[in-house]
Amino acid sequence: MLRDTLKKMNTELKDVVKYTLDINGVTHKMNNYIGTRIKIQWSGVVICQCGKKADKFYRSGYCYKCYWESPLASQSIFKPELCTAHLGIEERDLEWEKEFQIAPHYVYLANSSGIKVGITRGSQGVVRWMDQGASQAILFAEVPNRRFSGDIEVSLKRFVADVTNWRKMLSGTPESVDLLKMKEELTVHVPEELKQYILPNNTVTEIRYPVTQYPKKIKSVKLEKTPIIEGELLGIKGQYLLLDGDRVFNVRSHEGFISNFSQQEILQQGLLF
Ligand SMILES: [Zn+2]
Repeated sequence: MLRDTLKKMNTELKDVVKYTLDINGVTHKMNNYIGTRIKIQWSGVVICQCGKKADKFYRSGYCYKCYWESPLASQSIFKPELCTAHLGIEERDLEWEKEFQIAPHYVYLANSSGIKVGITRGSQGVVRWMDQGASQAILFAEVPNRRFSGDIEVSLKRFVADVTNWRKMLSGTPESVDLLKMKEELTVHVPEELKQYILPNNTVTEIRYPVTQYPKKIKSVKLEKTPIIEGELLGIKGQYLLLDGDRVFNVRSHEGFISNFSQQEILQQGLLF
């Protein structure tokens, strides 16, 4: 069944981000579909990561039980500053939490819709930035556990956003920001005991997306309301498919939707006769 569920697109950092979508046993090279028609047809069934099927999710892509019991949906997932595994304190499942939280984490600054601070685990930095539709990003700090990254994030949140304004992100390329200067300026706000983790590496990653046309008045479409979504693919940014009619479709927020995906060329009117 998992082969037929929507999953976030895989990304590769190239001249422009290269997207692939794995579904129905096929790996679709999405960049090649820009300028053609795509169709996503939802079966009416969702499947939670625990394997349970339902006609809808309870919250955030989880069934009721997982949302309230799974360590994947615990409070500290949404608020890393609440992580306590490094102190040996359990939230929902200490073994799982130790594995997940006590590992190198990175704090970064990214420019997707204006400057924001975020955190990421292991080497996921670039992937995370592409998923968020960031145009520029820089690593800020490397810490030995998730809690410290949450603490740094909290200290910077007073000065920069910690969420992406997705409407703004999808409305075009943001104005370029001097991330190096931002990093320098923000460094003074990091608590003394955490300053040792600030990275000396100041490489700025620039990211471009395959977009031929940005929407003007964004309409977000969802399979729950519209089980068949089809139209011309005009571009891809972050985890969003940009469709004709100013419509945008967030692939990631539909993870677990059992669906059928298809693509066809647009027939030129003249070729029909
Ligand atoms: Zn579940």
